[in-house]
Amino acid sequence: MNDARRFLNLLSALCLLPSALCLIAACETTASQAPASAGFDATRAWDHLRAQVAIGPRVSGTPENRKTREFIMSTLSAVGIKAVEQPFEGRTPLGAVKMANIIATLPGERPERIILASHFDTKLFKEFRFVGASDAGSSTAALLELGRVLKDKPRPFTIELLFLDGEEAVVEWSATDSTYGSRHYVQDGQSKGTLSGIKALILLDMIADKDLNIRREQNSTRWLTDIIWSAARRAGHQRHFLDDITPIEDDHLPFLAAGVPAVDIIDLDYGAWHTEADTLDAVSAQSLKIVGDVVLAALPDIEQRLLKP
Ligand SMILES: [Zn+2]
Repeated sequence: MNDARRFLNLLSALCLLPSALCLIAACETTASQAPASAGFDATRAWDHLRAQVAIGPRVSGTPENRKTREFIMSTLSAVGIKAVEQPFEGRTPLGAVKMANIIATLPGERPERIILASHFDTKLFKEFRFVGASDAGSSTAALLELGRVLKDKPRPFTIELLFLDGEEAVVEWSATDSTYGSRHYVQDGQSKGTLSGIKALILLDMIADKDLNIRREQNSTRWLTDIIWSAARRAGHQRHFLDDITPIEDDHLPFLAAGVPAVDIIDLDYGAWHTEADTLDAVSAQSLKIVGDVVLAALPDIEQRLLKP
């Protein structure tokens, strides 16, 4: 159909509407009001990404970071997912900063859990306004949408959605100035003896680059990476899940150090990384969907592997 024909069809469709008011109402229908879809919905995930960018910079300890937490909590509660905040104090080179992780639980047949994780804070930049569309709006958005999709599916393992605060360095990346949220979570789990219940951790970070290139991460657990990369190949996404290997320090490291199998799904090959260009223009809903679909396709294989005696 050519453009002129398409326009005429559109016009005639509009004329069927009883009033202009209906037209406005129809246009304002958001993804959250649309009928629930069974798979990963790119439009919903995109709405979650946009909502975070609209908050602005979301640096740990700021009112905008708290607003982001409120957004995460209300989005989870809107689809009936229970979540709690895990408050803690990050000891940064700039002093103590009040931070909080968010832990959401989707109960499965067993209490042992598979964690899907993302950080939600954005890096502090004084020289420019950094809104972190991909870092970390993208993975936070995907996690929220994955929660909705997985919520009512019967599963052998409990799924935990872990939204981490304080991933970014406050001054300069080091073992002590970075990953505040994941380090706190692991220390807390170690002191309470709850860490052994984690069977695997899948970390998402920077997954909405328009030009999506995700490389195998060198520190990640091999079998977990293999399962995810073969799910990507099966889904025809091998163009985006590359076989090159690159080492990246991220929130999965404290878990690996504590003996938890963990994988980092990250596209660090992103021109807008840690620049003022990390905006809606640099990211795509399609990339969010590719990663969401691959995680959903890999989960049953990960569960099968974990169920093996
Ligand atoms: Zn970052």
